[in-house]
Amino acid sequence: MQKILNYINGEWIDPVVSEYVEVINPATGAVIAQTPLSHASDVEAAAKAAALALPAWRRTPANERVQYLFKLRELLKANNDEIARTITNECGKTFEEAKAEMVRAIENVEVACGIPMMSKGEIAEDIAPGIDELMIRQPVGVCATIAPFNFPGMIVFWYLPYALATGNTFIVKPSEKVPMTMQLIFKLIDQIGLPKGVINMVNGAKEAVDAILDHPVIRAITFVGSSGVAKYIYSRASANGKRVQAQGGAKNPVVVLPDADMEMAVKIIADSAFGCAGQRCLAVSWAVTVGEARNLFNEAICDAAASRSVGYGLDNGIQMGAVISSASKSRIEQLIGLGASEGASVPVDGRGTVIKGYEGGSFVRPTILMDMQPGSEIWKTEIFGPVLGLMHVNTIDEAIALANSQAFGNQASLFTSSGSAARKFRYEVEAGNIGINIGVAAPMAFFPFSGWKESFYGDNHGQGMDAVEFFTQKKVVVERWPKEWTRKF
Ligand code: NAD
Repeated sequence: MQKILNYINGEWIDPVVSEYVEVINPATGAVIAQTPLSHASDVEAAAKAAALALPAWRRTPANERVQYLFKLRELLKANNDEIARTITNECGKTFEEAKAEMVRAIENVEVACGIPMMSKGEIAEDIAPGIDELMIRQPVGVCATIAPFNFPGMIVFWYLPYALATGNTFIVKPSEKVPMTMQLIFKLIDQIGLPKGVINMVNGAKEAVDAILDHPVIRAITFVGSSGVAKYIYSRASANGKRVQAQGGAKNPVVVLPDADMEMAVKIIADSAFGCAGQRCLAVSWAVTVGEARNLFNEAICDAAASRSVGYGLDNGIQMGAVISSASKSRIEQLIGLGASEGASVPVDGRGTVIKGYEGGSFVRPTILMDMQPGSEIWKTEIFGPVLGLMHVNTIDEAIALANSQAFGNQASLFTSSGSAARKFRYEVEAGNIGINIGVAAPMAFFPFSGWKESFYGDNHGQGMDAVEFFTQKKVVVERWPKEWTRKF
């Protein structure tokens, strides 16, 4: 069983703790590692190391800082398969999904390599005779990120490369459920030769998080996870005067119009709803058919759900892996029951799934909740599992109103061949990410990543220029250099 360590001031540290969380391979049920639940004193050590490293790191020119990212990119690429295998083993998704996750992580490193250009300031000459005004960007200071379980490799990279390249020092708190991927990635980070203390990692759960939220030296915090915790993180960290962005949960709708390419819609919507076993913040969670689309869509999506191959993500031909834990499996199964008790039928039912050879695993086959009722608890609640609710309305206006009446606003998708319907949808829907004939509208690293409404608390988002904004503070300088002074030379 692997021992999970912290990484502080360039050293691997075994924290002195009495409590551990078991890391379980969700497909086999085997215990594969133990996460130490670090104390506030471990966060203190990381914050101290990051603070000591800050003055020299922020004075290192940006074009030198990004040289470390170029090296990291090469190492991430060279070790991609091993990282992906680790993701599959601790998180449950398939090997292909894990590899795709790391493509996204690497893409963020590549974009952040452009930070010398992305973070340069502005100047306006002669705002009055002999007076110039400059805006320069400076690092915020010591920053930290708190990650969820569902993308053990990617999500930290929405932030890490941008924070480092803009001159901040950094602390990572991975999810205690999936610490092994970051452990491996930090072994690579250890090889790129960063000055000690520039990047640190503390493993743990609530105590470590609360210590990060309260630590006076930590100036900015990013969080990705469920909405309840996101709200808590945002409130507590901002009350402590920190810059904070907190990405929360989701319940993403997809609207299917009768003029959609139905074969394409069914395939893409099934991939979105059941890919990564539905444990994606951009997974489609409920589909609304409009008018005639119901007859064309419903039967085909049930077939697609029922025919998905489910199993251990490292085995060949597996399209969907396990959910993260037995507790999660029970929660998802209970929510399917709730949907049924609120009037939905369950034509494809993944409850009670057992996979031969992996009887100890936590599997839930794809599930369809037909005729989910608007306003019902199941319609409001994030399931975070491979469950797709189906609903029906008569017009696109009704579909948009239904989508907008939800508390979350992470993503909304539309399947249509009509440009005007697509434009209307894009214009009117209240969500941070819109997919038109796309099931998972994940922004490239050079676009901002974030939701709206209960899916996000904060201002600047992750990735790209938004991350540069988040990890820099602007300083405006007004300078007077009278012409007469120049004449002296
Ligand atoms: P989670 O909220 O349970 O945990 C996320 C992090 O918060 C972990 O590091 C955990 O240690 C910490 N944490 C948990 N409870 C805490 C508490 N009470 N106090 C302080 N810290 C606490 O989320 P999860 O189950 O790991 O991830 C799944 C959730 O993340 C889903 O809701 C999903 O929609 C969301 N998510 C959102 C996005 C997005 O971009 N909006 C992306 C991925 C996942």
